[in-house]
Amino acid sequence: MIGAMPGAISLDTPVEDLHSFKIARLGPLLSRKLAKALAAQTHKKNTTAVTVEDLLNYFPMRYEDRSHLALIKDLHDGVEASLELTVTHAHGYSVSKPRGYGRPQLYIFEVSAIDGPMTGREVIVWWFVSGRRAYDIVKYYTAKLARGARFVTFGRWEFEARRNTYKLRLNNAADELEILVPPGEEPALADPDSEPADEDNLPDPALAAIHVGRRVPVYRKLGEFNSKRVREIVHAVLSLLDDKAIAETLPADLRHRTKLISRAQAVREIHFPPPDVSMVDYELSKSRAHERMIFEDFFWVTFAIGLKRGERVKEVKDRALRIDKAVNEHIKSVMPFTLTRAQKRVTAQIFNDLKSRAPMNRLLQGDVGSGKTIVAVIAMIAAMENDLQTALMAPTEILAEQHARSIKRLLARTPYRIELLTGSLRAAEKRNLQSALKDGEVHAVVGTQALIQESVAFAKLGLVVIDEQHRFGVMQRAELRARGLNPDVLVMTATPIPRSLAMTVYGDLDVSIIDELPPGRTPIETMVFGEDQRQEVKRLISREVKAGRQVYVVYPLVEESEKMDLKDATRRYEYLRDTVFPRLSVGLLHGKMKPAEKEKVMNAFVAGEIKILVSTTVIEVGVDVPNASVMIVEHAERFGLSQLHQLRGRVGRGAEKSYCILLTSDRKTSNAEERLGIMAKTSNGFIIAEKDLELRGPGELLGIKQSGLPEFRIGNIVRDQALLEKAKQEAEFYLARTKSVMTARLTARIKEDPRFGLAAIG
Ligand code: ADP
Ligand code: MG
Repeated sequence: MIGAMPGAISLDTPVEDLHSFKIARLGPLLSRKLAKALAAQTHKKNTTAVTVEDLLNYFPMRYEDRSHLALIKDLHDGVEASLELTVTHAHGYSVSKPRGYGRPQLYIFEVSAIDGPMTGREVIVWWFVSGRRAYDIVKYYTAKLARGARFVTFGRWEFEARRNTYKLRLNNAADELEILVPPGEEPALADPDSEPADEDNLPDPALAAIHVGRRVPVYRKLGEFNSKRVREIVHAVLSLLDDKAIAETLPADLRHRTKLISRAQAVREIHFPPPDVSMVDYELSKSRAHERMIFEDFFWVTFAIGLKRGERVKEVKDRALRIDKAVNEHIKSVMPFTLTRAQKRVTAQIFNDLKSRAPMNRLLQGDVGSGKTIVAVIAMIAAMENDLQTALMAPTEILAEQHARSIKRLLARTPYRIELLTGSLRAAEKRNLQSALKDGEVHAVVGTQALIQESVAFAKLGLVVIDEQHRFGVMQRAELRARGLNPDVLVMTATPIPRSLAMTVYGDLDVSIIDELPPGRTPIETMVFGEDQRQEVKRLISREVKAGRQVYVVYPLVEESEKMDLKDATRRYEYLRDTVFPRLSVGLLHGKMKPAEKEKVMNAFVAGEIKILVSTTVIEVGVDVPNASVMIVEHAERFGLSQLHQLRGRVGRGAEKSYCILLTSDRKTSNAEERLGIMAKTSNGFIIAEKDLELRGPGELLGIKQSGLPEFRIGNIVRDQALLEKAKQEAEFYLARTKSVMTARLTARIKEDPRFGLAAIG
């Protein structure tokens, strides 16, 4: 619509075109910048595709009640309050020495201010300024906060007796302090917040009223737009938008049942809380506006997942397995131990899937050491007994090799041919193996992801087991189907996914849970140690090795600092080998080693020849060496809790008492202490995963980003569990009514939303 007179503003109006609506200080240049900043937020590739709806989906991070600004005379120690203040003096002073020729990098910026000419009482607002640009930032604030400048600030006021004054320390001045300059009067400064002069000439006295004397939203900085600017723009857009332009998306009967407010009302109220609602609810994201927006968010995602699932159930396998007495006898004859009750239960669930005509898509969850492998092997035998081939995929070669070894051992006396297919096979070996698979001579193949990604052909593939790969599980079936295969799929994971999460993220997977460990395990003692306790660690290692046990020492390896991490681990390995334990055999294992080398080291560790294995996280999942009794994790603070739980699960596999030592240099910081303390307190993977979810969010825990699943806009599956349940119930209500017009309408709407990738479903 270049140059054309825009019609009324709507949710579909491109943000790039907002300048044509005469919004104060929003010219073409800034409109484009705003669209660009939002594009980055919404992962939209095309700035022109960013709409007013995307802008309104940029929700406030918190709120401030400025409807009753406090006065200095009303302050008391520890009170949280907003004040509108006038600067009497502001300056920054360095608290660090200059580095080299540069400027100092740490300053304190201090503002003295009063709330009226009469009271005469001053307060102090201060914060740290640090980093390479510290000097420039100090200069910037010194100019902006010149004597007489007015600003609003919010926070917890502390009384300082020494100076007989109230002080407020800000964590992030850009968010917590807002300078109230009427537009057009901004000091002409080359600062990142200033506007180009030609867009600066739309003075609007009403603007100031948006920021004080009411409840206001506080936004995270959006590109170069600070909270105050976002607030102005959102306010302007909302006042231009007709209620009718914010169309209702949820069915009327649903809204009636759930008592949710309308979308139009929710969109307005989530940005600007009305004067009569509880601000506590807003702080907790429990206001009626939040409930409506969060519900909607959950509803669409669960509805989309339900649709996908419906499609799968309609698929038909070209076979249904027979699992009769003979098959059961056969399985029994190879079992090395009695199954736990939980193992029996999940085996029965898997058998039911195998026997059914719809393809299995099941997630098998069980804490580390709960015995998932044997369950997978049982399923594989059942399939092989039905003349079907099976494949087992592991995330790493080490794990694939271990699986191949133990399955071969277990099935040694059966007629089945089990082979390992990894990247390290010679070309000729690989060719032979591939043709044997194609001819159906190999019954079970074990390998890494490459197994299905490469062009491996099967004579009759009936079952695919994916170990420790929840993150890929969801997508895997699509890949298999694209290659013309339609096997049953069993995904195993030791990341105990909280129920709430499993049901949304894995809505398309049926879930089985092994909630019981095999008998005879002794609990693992977990300790958090600081650098000063290395002697103790050394003593523990010596004692355990002397008693015939083995030890893991694990280093973090993160992509960004991979080289340095590797050097760290290698140097530490050499130090342990040459200086600390010169008489013990110490081994090194990391992902950059050649597969043959890795295998050699791993085999030596399994055989007990290597006593201390220094490694990067390649051993994180699945490795099973029952004689290992000590797990030492270096830089433990750099791991996620669930990852630490996995690592810890490498020990405590035998009957001996085992130890897990989390070494950290910042044991004293409260965050590290809280997180690592959880590890010491519980060995329950579910509790740990819940905590991880709380502390780091689902993306980190599950790698949702990689899995291609939609992210929630505002819903938080931990905080908003009840709403999630409700949304899922409602989604199911409509999904079950396949013939209803409303369901058809909802389906059509969701297919239009590119977030869900449902366009292809017929
Ligand atoms: P995970 O679920 O972590 O993959 P594994 O399948 O590796 O666990 O099993 C852990 C250990 O427990 C293995 O050494 C396995 O042989 C053993 N195990 C599994 N099930 C039982 C059982 N029912 N009784 C005794 N030991 C078992
Ligand atoms: Mg395992």
